[in-house]
Formats: sequence, structure tokens, C-alpha cells
Amino acid sequence: MEDVIIIGAGACGCSLLYELSRYKVKTLLLEKENDVSVGTTKANSAIVHAGYDPEPGTKMAGYNVYGNALIEQLAADLDIPYKKIGSLVVGFDETDRKSIEKLLEKGNKNGVPGLKILEKEELFLMEPNLSKEAICALYAPSAGIIAPWELALAQAECAVKGGAKIEFNAEVISIEKKKDGFKVKTNKGDFESKFVVNAAGVNSDIVSRMIEPEFFTITPKSGEYFLLDTTEDGIVNTVVFPCPSVLGKGILVSPTVHGNIIVGPDSKISDKDYLGCTAKGLASIREGALRLIPSVNLRASIRNFSGVRADAGLEDFIVGQSKTAPGFFNMAGIKSPGLTSAPAIAKDVAKMLNEAGLEFKPNSNFVSKRKIKRFKHMSDAQKAQAIKENPAYGAIVCRCQTITEGEVIDALNRPIPPVSLDGIKRRCLTGMGRCQGGFCGPKVQSLISQMSKRKQKDIPLDREGMYIIISETKKGDL
Ligand SMILES: Cc1cc2nc3c(=O)[nH]c(=O)nc-3n(C[C@H](O)[C@H](O)[C@H](O)COP(=O)(O)OP(=O)(O)OC[C@H]3O[C@@H](n4cnc5c(N)ncnc54)[C@H](O)[C@@H]3O)c2cc1C
Repeated sequence: MEDVIIIGAGACGCSLLYELSRYKVKTLLLEKENDVSVGTTKANSAIVHAGYDPEPGTKMAGYNVYGNALIEQLAADLDIPYKKIGSLVVGFDETDRKSIEKLLEKGNKNGVPGLKILEKEELFLMEPNLSKEAICALYAPSAGIIAPWELALAQAECAVKGGAKIEFNAEVISIEKKKDGFKVKTNKGDFESKFVVNAAGVNSDIVSRMIEPEFFTITPKSGEYFLLDTTEDGIVNTVVFPCPSVLGKGILVSPTVHGNIIVGPDSKISDKDYLGCTAKGLASIREGALRLIPSVNLRASIRNFSGVRADAGLEDFIVGQSKTAPGFFNMAGIKSPGLTSAPAIAKDVAKMLNEAGLEFKPNSNFVSKRKIKRFKHMSDAQKAQAIKENPAYGAIVCRCQTITEGEVIDALNRPIPPVSLDGIKRRCLTGMGRCQGGFCGPKVQSLISQMSKRKQKDIPLDREGMYIIISETKKGDL
């Protein structure tokens, strides 16, 4: 019997797994996909929000501001790519100025540090490519950018090293209340635990209904993006937003931690597993981006993608113990700023579990830190040393991102070995550049095949079933 079963390996589930790994707690994370960060956590704006958007007094406001501070420390401890570059909410007229003043007031109430309104002169010094129509902006110096999938992955890797368990390809089908806990049924078998935490993202309503009466419904809302080539780096220096509307925070233009520019998202109701992009959606994003930054070059796009928000139609996240099924906890309806908030939500849920009877004795095997070798960022002397220690560091696999075979092999030996091309991409960035894996894809696939002893044709792009090699060419199978 486990102490805690967590359902879902996104930012929320993995933050809680890490938090609980501080203690001698038997924790099992069940994930329906084949890796960490395969849901919403991998596809979003990647902004560590400052915290002026949420309504003061909500859990969301507290989690956002606390999460922002926690992420700065986590990024340092766990070697997660992160930059505190600040954000701007830009105003174009007096109506916008009023909403910016309201955001400032909310931000001050929420305890966001360093907020101030910039007038034209100061604003253009910071962002020279901003539309000349801009008249002012709210500046939030504590906002940042992060590799979102790494936030979950880094925490999960440390937790697993510290003794936590993850079962992949294990979709939770039903939950049964037992005398001393729960029986959690999956397509891979049954598991028992004293406590269960629902961190199932867009499926959190379905999981909740397995054990408690319906009290919320997730409306999935997709957001599409352009990812621009690193040639566009420098077009903006901060995260640049328009004023928010009823649809959300609006279409932003921002640097990414990997030197690209991200532009988006829109917002529309979608399926829960939607991954697509539409001409209409992308056209609306183009329009929004050009209004902010007229010289942004959307022709330099190297990829379009989308992510799906878990919108419960509430002003707040759903976090806490079930009223009808004691021992069952929700981390549900975690829409934006859920990535930023996840570490703070996890700390709160860990405290609630403790108050509900989960014993916390320090785990002497707790792994609080992680360090990743990144060839591209090494000095010449460090590169020479890395190649001397392991000649695989002398073989470049991904030319766009300068990723070596050594890094791919190291990734395959990490505590949660990747099983797909995108699994390697999330760990080493292969396929993140201009050619989008056209050059490195077959090599990476072959390395996974060699190390995992699986046939190359069985290595998927990402989720199980997303196969790349379907048949031999010219054999006429198709
Ligand atoms: C377009 C967009 C932009 C965003 N921008 C930002 C931003 O800039 N900053 C920010 O802070 N937040 C942002 N967010 C929000 C943020 O991405 C999410 O709040 C966060 O990633 C949610 O994490 P999660 O762990 O709750 O869900 P997920 O990452 O979706 O994880 C849930 C996991 O549960 C698994 N699962 C589901 N059902 C089952 C089942 N039955 N059994 C087992 N496993 C199951 C899924 O496979 C998935 O891996 C954005 C979201 C979107 C969509």
C-alpha cells in the first residue's frame, strides 16, 4: 500500500512528487502517457508570471506570487533554464491606462514586488521595437521565462532519485474508497494508497467524478502559437503583453529561454487532446502581435503548436480535500498561471496531506539539487575536457542546437529515461532548431533504439502510437 498516489505527471503532479520526497512518504505517480510533461505543461507561453492578474484574496493570487519566488530558487537548484527578464503590459489609449492602473492596484494588493507604470520615454528605452502608438506600460520586474517541461521533469527526476515511483502508460480508470484508503484502478493494474491527489490537468473533472459527485466541469480551451527562429532574438527584451480582455491575457511576444521568440496564444474551446493549429487562429495571432511589435517577422516561424487550458470557469484554482471523499485531494482547473503556481500549490497540498494524517519524517535520501551537462554552454576548455572524458561529446547530433551524442546518451541514463524523440527533445533540445529534427531525428531514434533495445520503428515521436516509421519505402505497404 502506498501512502500517496498522485494522478498526472504535469507541473502540478511533479511539484507535489518533489515536495513529498522531502519526507519518508511512499509516493506513486500514475501517468497515462509515456513520459513526464506530455500534457499542458509542455505547451504554453512559458512565462513565470509576476502575479498582478489574479483577483486579490484568491488562492490563485497567493500561489502565483509565492510560486514566482519559489521557481527562481528551484531553477537555480535544479538547473532549469530560467531568466528573470520582467514583463510589460502595454497601453495604447486612456482606457488601457485605466486597466493598467487597476492591474497595478491588484498587483500591489497581491504583494508583487517592484511594479511600476512606465511612460513613453522609459518604455521605448526598454523596448525600442514597440509600436509607436504605445503610451504607457505596467512593468513587472519579477516576471520571468522558463523551460516549462523542465520544471516538471527536474522535480520528478530528483523525486525518483530520492525514492518516489512513477508508473507510465497507466491511465486511471476508476477510484474506489476502501476502509483505510483507496483502490485506484488503471489499465496496468490496481494500486492502493491512503491518500489520492488528482493532478490530471484537462481530465481533472473526469478523475474527480470517479470518487465524488460532479461539482466542476473542465472546458478545454486551446491556445495556438508561432515559435520564431533564433535569428529574431532581440526583437523584444521582456515579455510584452497587450492589456488583458475577457478572453485572457492576450497575445504576447516574448523571448524564450532557448533564444527563440514565442508569439501567441489565441483562445478557443477545443477537444481535450487537441494539438492542432488553424489558419484563422494563426491569422488572429499575427494581427495581435503586429499591433504590439510592428516589425516582428512571423515569416521566421519554425514551428506552430498549441496547448490546452483546463478551464473550470472559475476565478480560482480548485485545490483542497474533497468534502465527500476524505483523503482525496484536487489540484484541478489549473489554468494559467498554473505553471508559475505549481510549486506553491504543491507546498500547500503537502501541508494539507500532513494535516489530514500523512506523517512527515525527513527523508535522508532527499535529492534537492540537479546539474545537467550542456555542451553548447561550456567554455572551450570545458568542451575539450568533456570530450576527453567521453568522446561521445565530440559527436554533434543536432547541428541547429549544437547537441552532442554524449548529451543524448546521458539523457537516456537519467532517472526517468525518455522513450520517444520528443522525450529526448525535452531533455536535450534536439529537434528544437530550424530543421525541427529533420537532421537529428533518425540519429536520435537510433540511439534510443540501441540503448533501450527496442526496434527503431517502435520509437515514437512522442506519445505511444505516434510512429514515424510506418513501413519500408518502395515496398508498397501504403
Ligand atoms: C495556451 C496556454 C498558455 C499558458 N501559459 C502559461 C504561462 O505562460 N505561465 C503559466 O504559469 N501558466 C501558463 N499556462 C498554464 C499552465 O501551462 C498549466 O496551468 C499547467 O501546465 C498545468 O499543469 P498540470 O500539471 O495541472 O496539467 P498537465 O500538464 O496537463 O498534466 C496533467 C497530466 O495528467 C495526465 N492524466 C490525465 N488524465 C489521466 C488519467 N486518467 N490517468 C493518468 N494520468 C492522467 C495527463 O496525461 C497529463 O500528463 C498556460 C496554458 C495554456 C494552455
